[in-house]
Amino acid sequence: MTPTHPTKRPTDATHLGEGPDLPTELLNLPWIDIHNHAHTLSWEDRERYALAGCESMVMVASGYHWTPYKPVRAEDVRFLWDDAVNRRAAIERDHFFEANLGLGIHTGVRIENPDELLEAMADYCELEEVVAVGETGVTPAQHVEAWDVDEQRAMVQGQMELADAHDLPVLLHTPNQSGDSGRSYRSEIGVPGYEKNTELGADPVLEGDNPALEAVKLDVEAMDDAGIDDERVVASHADGNNTEYLMEDTDCYLSYTIGHSWLIGVDAADVADAIDEYGPERIMIDTDCANVLRTDPFALKRAIFELYRYGIDEDAIRTVVLENPRAVFDIA
Ligand SMILES: [Zn+2]
Repeated sequence: MTPTHPTKRPTDATHLGEGPDLPTELLNLPWIDIHNHAHTLSWEDRERYALAGCESMVMVASGYHWTPYKPVRAEDVRFLWDDAVNRRAAIERDHFFEANLGLGIHTGVRIENPDELLEAMADYCELEEVVAVGETGVTPAQHVEAWDVDEQRAMVQGQMELADAHDLPVLLHTPNQSGDSGRSYRSEIGVPGYEKNTELGADPVLEGDNPALEAVKLDVEAMDDAGIDDERVVASHADGNNTEYLMEDTDCYLSYTIGHSWLIGVDAADVADAIDEYGPERIMIDTDCANVLRTDPFALKRAIFELYRYGIDEDAIRTVVLENPRAVFDIA
């Protein structure tokens, strides 16, 4: 209690002891977002990444959200790839963080002539700025028109083979079991914060108790058949439904998407639980920020502090947000 506080009567400050050692190095810890769609965001949102200390990112161009015609043709997806290739350097110049690309064939909408796309992809894989193939992965239900599971799986495997041939990692889109809010919205209105005509969902092509997990298992089969090493596959959108399977039955990396926790129910607490149980060696975090979703460019930076508060030590945090992404994607 020395020196005596000059406050009129005792305050909390009078009673405080030494206080905790605060990890001030976390204020400036660089971090990498290995899965976002920042090229679809506003300039200000991308600036938020820079302000929050993002050192490098993988901007993923593969999403069906941005192809206007359904079913999709190969040329529509190529337009998305080319748009990202076209704008990447300007984005990097404006915000200073390293802007890399992931190019993939997403299976959320059926593509009429996917083989053409796969063929074209080989040349894109040669580009220095392309650091990953994806996001891709079997999807239990499509938008507008269903896509046969075997055809989807073949498309996923084909991309994995290409990635392997070009020594690139694969970014898997693992379907989430949506968070249970206890109520659903009117189907004609849909989910606020997710720009999607939910009425246009096609009947699922994967049924059963747990189609989200079944989809991941098909991806892992494709991985084995493609002959790509598990360590070259990063399962993004890891969650409580797929963590145990991926951790115990594979050697893949798991990336927890925390930029839209309100939608999929995954947040820093899930990441902390996974680190406690399995260690940080195979874990990453991504934001998946995109203009079609209510997402938060500060989410990863917030998670850094949140992980510490949840009892994760600085070294493990650094492994998860910086070192694992660096090693797998060979960036920053
Ligand atoms: Zn995404």
